[in-house]
Amino acid sequence: MLLPIEVGHAGWLSDVFKKSAKPAKSPKHVVSSKRVSSKRVARAKPAPTPKPHTVKLAALGPVALNLSALKPTCDPAKLRIVLDVGHTAESEGAISARNVAEFVFNRRLAQRIEEKLKAEGFARTTLLVTEGRARRSLLRRVAAANDMPASIFLSIHHDSVPNSFLENWEFEGKKSHFSDRFSGYSVFVSRDNPDFQTSLSFAELLAKEMKAQGLDYARQYSQPIMGRHQHPLLNKETGVYSYDELVVLRKTRMAAVLLEAGSIINRDEELKMASPEQRDIISSGVAAAVKTFCDARWAILGPL
Ligand SMILES: [Zn+2]
Repeated sequence: MLLPIEVGHAGWLSDVFKKSAKPAKSPKHVVSSKRVSSKRVARAKPAPTPKPHTVKLAALGPVALNLSALKPTCDPAKLRIVLDVGHTAESEGAISARNVAEFVFNRRLAQRIEEKLKAEGFARTTLLVTEGRARRSLLRRVAAANDMPASIFLSIHHDSVPNSFLENWEFEGKKSHFSDRFSGYSVFVSRDNPDFQTSLSFAELLAKEMKAQGLDYARQYSQPIMGRHQHPLLNKETGVYSYDELVVLRKTRMAAVLLEAGSIINRDEELKMASPEQRDIISSGVAAAVKTFCDARWAILGPL
């Protein structure tokens, strides 16, 4: 479930990304540097990045990544990945068809992804569990990732539907809601992320791996029936959408992607998403995408 909460610009974009190719922006997206305190800059400034800064991973294009030809391969122990558990114990996100909170699904899946990545050598993988109410938690997530600084920010969620699609049923004697109309994963990026091109590259890799695991993506977000929940489909083969205003995607200063792993309001898919087998499948896809990303990043930008 996505939280379309927007906040005012805090003006804390790092100058590290000033050389980055920026997506087209309207004037309202221009960030003033007047409000940046020296303390904030000093604390938030990432470690020096190898030159050249201007070479973006996406410059190769998602289909042009011939990784076997790219040497040297990455050192997974140095890539810092933040796995953001969507929502909090206080603000649990969507409620499944069987009345389980989305936060529970998100945490279980993120923990499995963490195990998988660490087993693959990505020792600096960090599970980010945030406390408190929704809006404040979003800014805390962003600040935590920016302060590390992380190379990849991946937010883990499970999908639901707008309330108007909900139908009634009873589960274990309790009045409950479901919608079996939609299913599937989806991958979101923000075109307002300061490193949108790298975000898109990772999103493309992740969505491709989800598809390679035999999963189908959720088609409804490109359909008018979704109303204000409709989003531009950036890759119709694999299911990458843009969701520009999401705080955790636009305020993070690294490649940032949100994965809706599957629908928990769909009664069949909820059962799948609750199974360890499905968590293994998705974790394998994420690990494969991170590995490919790391190799490509290493080949272009050099060691971290
Ligand atoms: Zn969610």
